[in-house]
Amino acid sequence: MNPHDPHGEAVAASLKWQSTSAGNTAQKRNIDEIYACDVFDERKMHERLPKHVYKNMLEAIQNRKRISMPDAEVIATAMKDWAIERGATHYTHWFQPMTGLTAEKHDALITPDGQGSVVYRLAGSSLVQGEPDASSFPSGGLRATFEARGYTAWDPTSPAFIVRGTNYATLCIPTAFVSWNGEALDKKTPLLRSIDALDKQAMRILRIFGTDTGVNSVGSTLGSEQEYFLIDQNLYFARPDLMSCGRTLFGNTPPKHQQLDDHYFGSIPTRVNAFMATLEDELFRLGVPVQTRHNEVAPGQYEIAPLFESTNIACDHQAILMDTLKRVAGRYGFVALLHEKPFAGMNGSGKHNNWSMSTDTGVNLLDPQDETHTNNQFMTFLCAVIRAVHLHGDLIRAAISGASNDHRLGANEAPPAIISIFLGDMLTDLIEQIEKGSTSRTLKGGSLDLGARSLPDLKRDSGDRNRTSPFAFTGNKFELRAVGSTASVAWPNTIINTIVADSLDFVATEIESKLGKNPTDAKRDQVVLKVLQSIIKEHKAIVFNGDNYAQAWQDEAARRGLPNLRSTADALPALETSTAKKLFRKHKVLSTSELESRVEIFAEKYITEVSIEAQQMVSIARTLLLPAATKHQRALAETIVSSEQAGASCEGLRDSLIKFVDMVHAFQDAIASVESALEIPEQSALKQCVYCRETLFSATEVLRACGDALEREVDQALWPLPSYHDLLSLR
Ligand code: ADP
Ligand code: MG
Repeated sequence: MNPHDPHGEAVAASLKWQSTSAGNTAQKRNIDEIYACDVFDERKMHERLPKHVYKNMLEAIQNRKRISMPDAEVIATAMKDWAIERGATHYTHWFQPMTGLTAEKHDALITPDGQGSVVYRLAGSSLVQGEPDASSFPSGGLRATFEARGYTAWDPTSPAFIVRGTNYATLCIPTAFVSWNGEALDKKTPLLRSIDALDKQAMRILRIFGTDTGVNSVGSTLGSEQEYFLIDQNLYFARPDLMSCGRTLFGNTPPKHQQLDDHYFGSIPTRVNAFMATLEDELFRLGVPVQTRHNEVAPGQYEIAPLFESTNIACDHQAILMDTLKRVAGRYGFVALLHEKPFAGMNGSGKHNNWSMSTDTGVNLLDPQDETHTNNQFMTFLCAVIRAVHLHGDLIRAAISGASNDHRLGANEAPPAIISIFLGDMLTDLIEQIEKGSTSRTLKGGSLDLGARSLPDLKRDSGDRNRTSPFAFTGNKFELRAVGSTASVAWPNTIINTIVADSLDFVATEIESKLGKNPTDAKRDQVVLKVLQSIIKEHKAIVFNGDNYAQAWQDEAARRGLPNLRSTADALPALETSTAKKLFRKHKVLSTSELESRVEIFAEKYITEVSIEAQQMVSIARTLLLPAATKHQRALAETIVSSEQAGASCEGLRDSLIKFVDMVHAFQDAIASVESALEIPEQSALKQCVYCRETLFSATEVLRACGDALEREVDQALWPLPSYHDLLSLR
């Protein structure tokens, strides 16, 4: 560590912290006990609700049915009693507005008793419906500022939970958030509607195959893996860019970062592991079951993956996870960065979105099973997904767009902006058979003999993986790898559910219309294969098993007519097409005005984020970096003058000074360019996005390059920002 480092004190404080606090937090844990703690789950309902209400509640959860007001009254009282016993003083309708974050407004769990005192109470009506106003959230024109009313509506399928801190505990009730006329102002409402749409169409397929017996509903399942960086809090507070934008706006990649792969899957640093253990405890307590933890590729980068659940709950849990991650990090002197690209020149963070469809009886509809070529139902679901992604890949791309994810997609980082599907050898062989009109074999992986007597034979999968594919089949689910690490997963899953529902609708209609009344099994299989054959012929262009990073794929994808939407500005218009409007209307997921409002909101968000970053850069450049550079310049000049007075020649230093002065000039020009680019012309929001991308963002890239060049020259003791080296090596 540089002894003149202006952040040396912060570093020393953190090192001291590591040696004391982390060791003391280890505690004995009883997972079962923790898990049972702070969630009003089935077990609590069973214990606390009268039998008939419990039965109705279960029925409502499993089959997504409404709960009657009398039942809600009973449930509210039981929930309130439980929450108060656990120390809660307040409750909140917890929702997910279009900011992509979560929102809460706390109300005390008390009400006047009419005799000058108060009683603890949560009315059934307060459980079911809230009116938080919340008029400052983005509505994309769905309501004017003066139209303040907004409602929250209880989602009984997602369990209530208690968030607690040192001296508070709040009962959180998951809700949907809509406007006065019922239009969705949040991420949950359309997601729930898309699950209903998927349910309706998937059930038609099960009926065709006669596998619907005992099945009440089909839903999608979701497991999302979250990547994040941990950096030391003290250093974070010395970086205004991290504080306001979540990423470094200046900074040079250090000589050694991830090249040796020595962090990836490495032994987890002690302080980090202690943090992870507390984080997992906390998440278990909130009902979020965590499965996996490991070091990721870049130094300071990690991953956490919960177990998969039904999509609605998994989306709520993902929001809880991001919140908890940030909250717990502080206790260990860390800040968790969820941004997609906190550090230039190193891996960014994403969120792998593992998606499948399952019956309420627990059958995974994307499980190919052993003799896949005889499993016509699986092939039908598979082909429907292939068709959906081919027809609406642009919507998936739009769903994962945003200023921060632009740093990954289309920016030479995993995965590319072209949406394609990886199927692997076995399924590719299978769809080739379908295309030819009959299926007769399932490729097997066989086993691997490792050569040493003590090592077991390994069962080999029937196909390898492909890390570069944005939408990959991984055994019994699809993995959308392009979701941003800051993103709410609700929106991309709303899109996947909707496009697959639409495709299942098409497939079911095709098959039903050709089947006639009371078909034999043989007739059905014949019809199914014919329908699937024509789907494969038409949509196989979306399947690509090769290297998605190669230039050759960009060219090939263009030949195949697959869109390559590199930035948010390119991607958002897909949501405005008549095809998109018709699709969302048809499946009752979003009305045209609801869809248009989203385009407006996403565009606004993009423009605002790019503008904030630009303003923040100008501020850092003018008030931190330029003064450091001028001090350095003066020191150089003074050295030259005094050395020459003393009779020493300073030609080399003089050259350096002249070069340095040029660099400072270039830096000043770049600041001025960003300032003038910040005057965004009045035009439509989508046009402003293009402007921000092409003019404003480009100007900031030049400014960054000039600033980074200065950092490489200026005396470290003068440089006002903690370096990448410090930020990334302190664990
Ligand atoms: P991989 O190594 O391919 O990523 P894992 O088995 O480690 O596969 O699973 C990764 C993620 O996928 C986990 O979060 C897991 O919960 C989730 N997952 C597993 N099965 C399903 C499924 N049927 N539906 C949705 N997500 C799933
Ligand atoms: Mg994975």
